[in-house]
Amino acid sequence: MEGLPAQILEIVDLGVVVLDTEFRVCYWNRWMAFHSGIAAEAITGTPIFESYPKLNTPEFLRGARMSLTFGSPAVFPQSLHHYLFPFKVVGTPNGMFDLMQQHCTSAPLREPDGEIGHLLITVQDVTERAISQQRLRELNIRDQLTGAYNRRYLDHRLPDECKRHDRHHRSLSVIMIDIDFFKKVNDQHGHEAGDKVLSQVAGKLMATVRKTDCLVRYGGEEFCCILPETPLENACVLADRFRTSVERLAIAAGSTELRVTISLGVAQLRPEDTHATLLKRADEGLYDAKQSGRNRVIART
Ligand code: GH3
Ligand code: MG
Ligand code: MG
Repeated sequence: MEGLPAQILEIVDLGVVVLDTEFRVCYWNRWMAFHSGIAAEAITGTPIFESYPKLNTPEFLRGARMSLTFGSPAVFPQSLHHYLFPFKVVGTPNGMFDLMQQHCTSAPLREPDGEIGHLLITVQDVTERAISQQRLRELNIRDQLTGAYNRRYLDHRLPDECKRHDRHHRSLSVIMIDIDFFKKVNDQHGHEAGDKVLSQVAGKLMATVRKTDCLVRYGGEEFCCILPETPLENACVLADRFRTSVERLAIAAGSTELRVTISLGVAQLRPEDTHATLLKRADEGLYDAKQSGRNRVIART
């Protein structure tokens, strides 16, 4: 490539790659060389899958063939693929993505006779955008005070989980959790201390659950835990672990140390259940736990 177009391709803030119909690299711009650490001279003429074997996926090939065979452009959005080329993130670590998030496209390049001879691939770094989108998504589904999921998230997630588990005949359990005599904490130590208790109790519960479990702030001082792939018996073991770990928790509030307990109700999904009846049964267990003295777990079968 020569002249102005060549200069432009070398300085744009965009990865530009040209492959032939056998997926051999014909052009690799400076942006690609910089982020990959592979010089254009080293990669030119070699099949792209030699350097990037993981690019050889049905998804990539489908898009690439759309361009090469049918002459239509294809998009590989970050939301679907995250990236095509595994490059390190530029700048300081962001705590969310280890690898550069990319928006990529492919398009056909035609010979003078109109035949498609090459494939153009562009790679755009959209890491910043992906981070802000992810943060917005989190804001939408998380409770600000405790960091647990919010009620809105539960309303979407629980019906989905119920359908999925029912369809595959898998066990799903839920635990309803309520802090005992929480009004007293607020009344005796103030709302700020109450907030601190809430966030520390939630922190303890979240630290106790698995990644696939989901802790939701259900209401003021009530939480709900969704446990996929978990039968009632195991859910009760976890519920009791919740109970003891909160009981042992000492929360500093000014010069005093606050202690609270929780009551818990547990239920497992039955074939005839809806998400509402499942929650209702766990709530009945919680009610019984309160009635029978608090700081305890009661399962409703
Ligand atoms: P029980 O053992 O029967 O559950 O008694 P309780 O006092 O915990 O129950 P109750 O439902 O009467 O009180 C719940 C209290 O939680 C009342 C409300 O002021 C307080 N609360 C709800 N949301 C918040 C919050 O975000 N921050 C604080 N500090 N308090 C809250
Ligand atoms: Mg309550
Ligand atoms: Mg309470």
